[in-house]
Amino acid sequence: MSSHKKQYLGDDMYDVVIVGGGPAGLSAALTAKHEELDYLLLEKNKILSTFEKYHPEKPVMTYPCDKSVKGPLPFEKMKTKELVEKWKKLTDELNVRLEEAIDIKQENTTYIIKTTGGEYKSKNVVLAIGIQGTPRRLGVPGEYQKNVYHNQTPCLDFSNKTVVVVGGGDTALETALIAESEGADVIISYRKPAFFRPHKENIDKIAKSKIKTIFNSHIVKIDGNKLILNTNEGEKPIKFDCLVICIGTVWPEGFLKKIGITVERKNAFTDKAIEVQPGLLVAGDLVGRPSIKMAINQGFDAIKKIKNRTSHT
Ligand SMILES: Cc1cc2nc3c(=O)[nH]c(=O)nc-3n(C[C@H](O)[C@H](O)[C@H](O)COP(=O)(O)OP(=O)(O)OC[C@H]3O[C@@H](n4cnc5c(N)ncnc54)[C@H](O)[C@@H]3O)c2cc1C
Repeated sequence: MSSHKKQYLGDDMYDVVIVGGGPAGLSAALTAKHEELDYLLLEKNKILSTFEKYHPEKPVMTYPCDKSVKGPLPFEKMKTKELVEKWKKLTDELNVRLEEAIDIKQENTTYIIKTTGGEYKSKNVVLAIGIQGTPRRLGVPGEYQKNVYHNQTPCLDFSNKTVVVVGGGDTALETALIAESEGADVIISYRKPAFFRPHKENIDKIAKSKIKTIFNSHIVKIDGNKLILNTNEGEKPIKFDCLVICIGTVWPEGFLKKIGITVERKNAFTDKAIEVQPGLLVAGDLVGRPSIKMAINQGFDAIKKIKNRTSHT
């Protein structure tokens, strides 16, 4: 990561400050670099931190299939660990600061971005903070113990272990498939009567696997290596070695409220970033259905919009 000059408030002004170093933010930063904009990428944790929730062997899915990838960030189906390695090499060439944006305010036509490391001025902001910050919890006793994971596929030795996965989305199904491929006995507990949301590819793989799915069920209690599952046939005790809860994430309402914006999220895949107020564009998971490809395209679209405006002023 390159060092750079503009750490604290002064007269210097960026063309764009990009908040969040996931696929949307990386795509925006690389595009800004190609377009020769004066940019800064802020990341509160680690670049690509969301990918730490994936199992390294998981092949990243490149949906939606009917859309192509736009911009300079390359993306194709490969194992997570290969993609992360490839993208991290590109990050070395970018203007990055590992700081959390804690506030964003507009003064006339300038944005002031306050971070854990200083303050920056910018004509535009791309907000690409994702939605993975806070996993949704079950809210049952025993949920916080060391053999219980939220929204991530733990990198463990699964052989001869019993793994229970809670949820009915792609993350739950892919977690179950990875655990099974590594030798675990896997049970999926899902509160609905069938899988509706995941991609067909994953549903088909589950149907062909030995994974047992208990529909219409929910956990009522977790205690050490035992959980109680409420099912159509009444309460069932299940012994497990590892429990993975994949029931989504909580919308970053607090931060959005603090910076004074509301985002109308679409329940669909979209290539376009949303401009919530002049010069403040939102890209990535905040915009529509989660997809790496769409996040990349939205990051690209945000910078193209900013560049077009910059060229005409
Ligand atoms: C386990 C799992 C498996 C998945 N598998 C696939 C798949 O196979 N294919 C697919 O297309 N999608 C998949 N997804 C979804 C995909 O990861 C997301 O759609 C994608 O990462 C969204 O990119 P993003 O840039 O919007 O957000 P993120 O990747 O979540 O990145 C946001 C970044 O912003 C940072 N950040 C947050 N707040 C701040 C702040 N205030 N200041 C600075 N930085 C901040 C975070 O630390 C994070 O690094 C999966 C998701 C999970 C959890």
